[in-house]
Amino acid sequence: MASLLFVNEIFASLQGEGAWTGTPSVFVRLQGCLCRCPWCDTKNTWKLGEPNDCGLDFAASKADAPRHATCTGEELLAYIDAHYASIPHVIFTGGEPMLFDLTDVTAALLARGKTVAIETSGTEPVRVAEGVWVTVSPKYDMPGGREVLASALRRADEIKMPVSGPKDLEDLEHRTLPETKPGVLVYVQPVSRDDEATRLCVEAAMTKGWRVSFQVHKYVNMR
Ligand code: SF4
Repeated sequence: MASLLFVNEIFASLQGEGAWTGTPSVFVRLQGCLCRCPWCDTKNTWKLGEPNDCGLDFAASKADAPRHATCTGEELLAYIDAHYASIPHVIFTGGEPMLFDLTDVTAALLARGKTVAIETSGTEPVRVAEGVWVTVSPKYDMPGGREVLASALRRADEIKMPVSGPKDLEDLEHRTLPETKPGVLVYVQPVSRDDEATRLCVEAAMTKGWRVSFQVHKYVNMR
C-alpha cells in the first residue's frame, strides 16, 4: 500500500445520491480528473495531483480549494480510524478516484467492518477490492475525450446517469445498459437541480422503471 494518494478533501456527511442516500459517510475526494464535464461542480479537483507536504488535516479543514493533501493508504486508514471511527461507510469520490489503485486501502477498510463505495465516471479501470459498492456515473462525449469502459460498466452495482437533456437518456439506454450486469440499479440524476432535467428524469423513471436521484444533500444545505 505504498503508493501515494492525493486527497482534495475529506469530510463526514450524509450520502445524498443513489441507493445509499441518507447513510452517514466519510467522503474521501481524490484529486485529478480528465473528463472536463462543463457542469462539473468540483472543477477544483481537475488538476492532476503531485506530492506535496500537506497532510490530511489540511484536506479536512477546507472546501473547494485547488490544493490537495498527500498521504499513503496507511495514513488515510489511520486518519479515518482517529477521526471518523463512528461512521460505518466510506465513499471515494473525486475528481476521478480510479486514477488511483484503491485495491489495498478498500480491502483494509472492509476488513475493519466498514462498507465502502466508489463513484467513478467509468473512464478508468476499476481498481478496488471485491465487495466494494461501485457507482458508475458515465460521462460520454465530454471535452476531455475520455471513453467509458465496458469493464467499468460491467463492474457497476449502480448506474447514476447525470441528465441535462434527452441525449443523456439515450446514452443511458443505448450505450450504458447493454454493458451492465443483471440487477444493476439504475438512477437518473438531474444536473444542477435544473427544472427541465428533473422533468425528463421523472418522466423517464416512470416509463422505464428507473429511479430518480435528487442530490438530497443540496436540498438540506449539507456538504
Ligand atoms: S467526471 Fe466528475 S469530477 Fe470529472 S469533470 Fe465530470 S463531473 Fe467533474
